[in-house]
Amino acid sequence: MARPEAFLDRVRQAADELGRHVRIMEVCGTHTHAIGRGGLRSLLPHAVELVSGPGCPVCVTSQRDIERILLLARSPGVTLCSFGDMIRVPGLTTSLVEERSRGADVRVVYSPLDALELASREPERAVVFAAVGFETTAPGVASVVLQASERGLTNFSVYASHKLIVPAMKAVLEGASRIEGFLTPGHVSVIIGPEAYEEVAQHYAAPCVATGFEPSDVLEGIAMVLECIAAKRTGSFVQYTRAVKPGGNARAWDILLRVFDVAEAEWRGLGVIPGSGLVLKEAFAALDAARRYALPDLAPVQLPRCRCGDVLKGVIHPPECPFFGNECTPRNPLGPCMVSSEGSCAARYKYG
Ligand code: SF4
Repeated sequence: MARPEAFLDRVRQAADELGRHVRIMEVCGTHTHAIGRGGLRSLLPHAVELVSGPGCPVCVTSQRDIERILLLARSPGVTLCSFGDMIRVPGLTTSLVEERSRGADVRVVYSPLDALELASREPERAVVFAAVGFETTAPGVASVVLQASERGLTNFSVYASHKLIVPAMKAVLEGASRIEGFLTPGHVSVIIGPEAYEEVAQHYAAPCVATGFEPSDVLEGIAMVLECIAAKRTGSFVQYTRAVKPGGNARAWDILLRVFDVAEAEWRGLGVIPGSGLVLKEAFAALDAARRYALPDLAPVQLPRCRCGDVLKGVIHPPECPFFGNECTPRNPLGPCMVSSEGSCAARYKYG
């Protein structure tokens, strides 16, 4: 693999050729942290502005879903399982970690399979897995739903708030972000394939480059986006060729679509986006926690002060939030973007 310096030269050359300011969005929390960890922002020409987008699964989960998950955690007899970042996300009045300190049975799991096995081991508990994530995590959840169904595990259910990335990219482009090109998420691109971005790239003339996670990958991805913009060329391209293949992973899609229907979903900051979420098919209604526990619909709600929505839309950078680094820190987060290990506020706070 070529050294990062070689790609940095390419970035500088393309930026010179373009000769103006340009905004590029990375749509992946792992990219956001790789960029911060590698100090890449400070290496780029001033005219190249990197903006973090809606790529952190915990961060994009709507506040309404967070409140409904908190209701589930307070339901008698329920063991609420989720990933570690989720339990610290602030609700309007409480969080999962606070509910745990008051006696709720809230457990951190590392995979949906852990939650399934817990349900199998403790049949007297009603185990609910609060599932968030993009096309990368949804097939694993689908697999667990199929297993629960086949094994007849009646004490297991899923609260699904999965998201699909391409409709969110369209919503970003329709908004006020002034994004001209994307580094698209390497892991998601492995599943959906590079073709999935082609319509966005063509319709909005915004080149998309599926990019890996090493500093040299990210710099090459940026160089590819800049070269496209400078040459007025658009399309969906692949930098991360060692993992992203044409057509994506058909098997993962197959299992996902056996369990979920594509539906509208509410995103933090971006609102309700048609075709951007996944709901359990009718055949798995018994495993759908939202239906099993008759959760109220709840009106859309927002955290009163946090500006995560504007951060996720690419309208502001984290330090432009008035609470960044003073009232809001990783020890005392006011919003999910400062909580999550993939959040852009957490990355800026950690790496500067
Ligand atoms: S700094 Fe804190 S309050 Fe501001 S947008 Fe980020 S998470 Fe929200």
